[in-house]
Amino acid sequence: MHSVPPVKNSSIENVPALADRLAAAGRAQGFRIEVFGEIEGCPLFALTKRTPGPRPRLYVSAGLHGDEPAPPLAVLHQLERGFFDHRATWFICPLLNPAGLVRGIRENAAGLDLNRDYKDRRSTEIQAHVRWLQCQPNFDLTLCLHEDWESTGFYLYELNPAQRPSLAQPIVDAVKKVCPIDPSPVIDDREARGGIIRPVGDPLLREKWPEAIYLRAHHTTLGYTLETPSAFPLNQRIAAHSAALETALAGLRLGSGHP
Ligand SMILES: [Zn+2]
Repeated sequence: MHSVPPVKNSSIENVPALADRLAAAGRAQGFRIEVFGEIEGCPLFALTKRTPGPRPRLYVSAGLHGDEPAPPLAVLHQLERGFFDHRATWFICPLLNPAGLVRGIRENAAGLDLNRDYKDRRSTEIQAHVRWLQCQPNFDLTLCLHEDWESTGFYLYELNPAQRPSLAQPIVDAVKKVCPIDPSPVIDDREARGGIIRPVGDPLLREKWPEAIYLRAHHTTLGYTLETPSAFPLNQRIAAHSAALETALAGLRLGSGHP
């Protein structure tokens, strides 16, 4: 297993170098690099790998908030250790806000929160991302990787409008072994239970769309947003995201009747 690059708790030192390393690791694992835009000289790109035969289609995104370094580093970690293998067909967007990551800020360089921009699409980043998404098939599962500065542990949001077999509890149970779960009954103004938030009401009616709602509207019937606690050590947050990815893939194959 490879080690992850040394970084500070809150920021990535060299974002273009991380983009290069993600692309190189992707190529080494048989991924195609699909560049769909560029921000300040850093590519916006997806890593895709279509495995022959019937396989679940998994979409993974990271790096949408620039002050959340663990998600792109977790993707790199899992890429370099060969996790994204023949068990699925993969669609991975590992670094969606390079300008924010360079600055260590949540928003992009223009001050827009990209994870509220999927309905109006005012930012270059999300316009480019959605153009790319519009060319993609439906996904059996989507995982959006994030971090939270205020939480006291890991938690997740589930969007499961078709009542498919839920992966929420298995993910929480797996993450619990490497990272505490946020026990709060209210997280981010929403009712939570054991680190699981199942938003009530129709998310499509929300005024500003996070990526997860766009995906739910156009691409998937099962989506998770995973949140690691920024106050914890970076390696622990990377381990938490890694455990969540591994459990989601294993649970989807075994439990949902997918081919
Ligand atoms: Zn975030």
